[in-house]
Amino acid sequence: MTAAAALGKRGWSVRVHEKAEDLRLVGAGGLSMFENALRVLEAIGAYEDTVAGANPFIGIQTRDEKDRVTSQQRCNVGRRVYEMSRTQLMNAIYKAAARAGAEVLSGSEAVGVDPSGVVRFANGKTAKADLVVVADGINSPNRDSLGLRVKRTPLKDGAIRIIVPRLPQDAIDLDRNMSIEWWVGIRRILAVALSETELYLALTTLDTDTEYKALPLNKKLWKSQFPFLSSALDRVTTQGRWDRFETIKMDRWSKGKVAIIGDAAHAMAPNLGQGGACAMMNAIGLAHSLDQYANMSQALDAWEREQRPLIDHTQKWSTIYSSVTTWPAQARSMAFAAARQVPWIQKIAFKAVDHNPIGCAV
Ligand SMILES: Cc1cc2nc3c(=O)[nH]c(=O)nc-3n(C[C@H](O)[C@H](O)[C@H](O)COP(=O)(O)OP(=O)(O)OC[C@H]3O[C@@H](n4cnc5c(N)ncnc54)[C@H](O)[C@@H]3O)c2cc1C
Repeated sequence: MTAAAALGKRGWSVRVHEKAEDLRLVGAGGLSMFENALRVLEAIGAYEDTVAGANPFIGIQTRDEKDRVTSQQRCNVGRRVYEMSRTQLMNAIYKAAARAGAEVLSGSEAVGVDPSGVVRFANGKTAKADLVVVADGINSPNRDSLGLRVKRTPLKDGAIRIIVPRLPQDAIDLDRNMSIEWWVGIRRILAVALSETELYLALTTLDTDTEYKALPLNKKLWKSQFPFLSSALDRVTTQGRWDRFETIKMDRWSKGKVAIIGDAAHAMAPNLGQGGACAMMNAIGLAHSLDQYANMSQALDAWEREQRPLIDHTQKWSTIYSSVTTWPAQARSMAFAAARQVPWIQKIAFKAVDHNPIGCAV
């Protein structure tokens, strides 16, 4: 959808085919949007709608099984950061794409794509375009139909994402200005306010942790491990959603007239809050490259050359973060505390956040 807005703004005639019947239902839980993503949102005209009523949190904190703070850091110094629901972000980008002239067809499932620019749909119809942008997520059937080499690496962990009502007492239990992650053994719960009325919980554990990853959420089990979050866990009334983390790597992000972006091309563990941001940076970078070169194949080559190093870096460090899941608690706490203070680790962790995305200056 970001690509649709960015291309539409540059004069392309764009049509988005979205499998879901109802765009408002796409996505679950909340998202952090850091400075890099916010710049893209500004450039496509989606910023105001994205941050309206969202939570401008100021820092990241980790706590242990006794609710003691083990590390914390400000993350908004010289950069903006907001937490909002996925629905709010999606709606904001959708509206920007529509304003840029993109036509959005919901309930339209693409099942395969050809390098010549022909797309096949589940209803048997086909369409041809000068450029096809494949952005259908981690399990992308359209990416797979191209016959490019795709390396999928499932990680050991995954998360259940849930939004619960936020109550006044959460301001005491959970500092609304912090994004707090409690670690108990192999399990962790991230809690961060999305707005005055919504609280987002991401409950992460190993994929082998069958009882804890089950849906609907086993509140009794989770409360026994995280008693200080009992009030918030009691407010869970929705099913939630479990996703195992996964890394996707492709040898190439394009073939002929087809470009692949977002999780379909470069999914990563969500530990740095950068998967969506990378998808959005890559989308606007694609539109920018197409502006710079008259020849499509040169544009796609230049785009991948420019975007790939930062996305590869971010994927790598997100995966490394996941590996601390199985560390002994004390070693993990010490690693977090050290990482929050060592400048070169901070530089690595915030490299994407502090990047000025290509194509935002239009
Ligand atoms: C627990 C968790 C927390 C995260 N937190 C953050 C965060 O804080 N910040 C951040 O930047 N990122 C975060 N991410 C990563 C982020 O969610 C993804 O990187 C991002 O959603 C990728 O966007 P996408 O458009 O590529 O794919 P998706 O979001 O998966 O969207 C794909 C779209 O394609 C549609 N579709 C699928 N198949 C078809 C088809 N055949 N035809 C037509 N349409 C189709 C789907 O309905 C969907 O709308 C998190 C991820 C997880 C799992």
